[in-house]
Amino acid sequence: MKINILTLFPEMFRGFTGESIIKRALEKNLLEINVINIRDFCYDKHKQADDKVFGGGAGMLMKPEPLIRALNTLGGKVIYTSPQGVRFDQKLAIELSQEEEITIIAGHYEGIDERVVESRVDLEVSIGDFVLTGGELPAMVMTDCIARLVPGAIKQESYENDSFFNGLLDYPNYTRPEEYEGMKVPEVLLSGHHKNIEIWRKKESLKRTYLRRPDLLKGREFDKLEKKLLNEIKEELKKESK
Ligand code: SAM
Repeated sequence: MKINILTLFPEMFRGFTGESIIKRALEKNLLEINVINIRDFCYDKHKQADDKVFGGGAGMLMKPEPLIRALNTLGGKVIYTSPQGVRFDQKLAIELSQEEEITIIAGHYEGIDERVVESRVDLEVSIGDFVLTGGELPAMVMTDCIARLVPGAIKQESYENDSFFNGLLDYPNYTRPEEYEGMKVPEVLLSGHHKNIEIWRKKESLKRTYLRRPDLLKGREFDKLEKKLLNEIKEELKKESK
């Protein structure tokens, strides 16, 4: 998969592409990240990428010509990082990881000229209801999330157990030592009994989701085991609150 990122600050991506899973995916050619300096498409003497906003007001806006020239050389769905966009989530990450190529625009200043959005952008994507200085961090967040879903980047069972993949939050995990400061690892996890471990994990996932993110359970089609476990959880919580 190829991810093109259009930015005025390509240096920000240096550490990001040089570490951990992203680095390995790049080395294994599972992923190509193409960081493009928008200024390379500014043809005036001063390489001016921004200008004052028509109608007045504080701040500068990214000019349309360099962006559109750059976009004309690239392929794939065009995504503009924007606080006004659809919320980025695991479902969207999975969808985007199935594309051969995508192009992400990192905005800056007051954002980009609306004509770029109207004529070239397929999807505006937000990483949350807050305003950042630029779209570089959102582009990295999205790229990181998509990269680990690209086949071969990490083991499939790793991301399939992650929160949100199957609509639930992840279960709690433990590593050695078995006891630390008097806190013990749940016995079932040391038992080697795979079926019981699987059921315990499912129950913990359901419990966490029920307590922390009940919105995720709305509209879920629970299977027989999940229904049974959820009833147990509700009963146990009732008893605990008495
Ligand atoms: N004036 C814009 C608005 O209110 O919608 C905000 C501009 S913001 C200061 C500059 C750039 O940061 C945006 O063009 C966008 O690319 C990026 N950005 C800021 N917050 C973001 C968020 N929550 N999600 C995605 N991108 C964001």
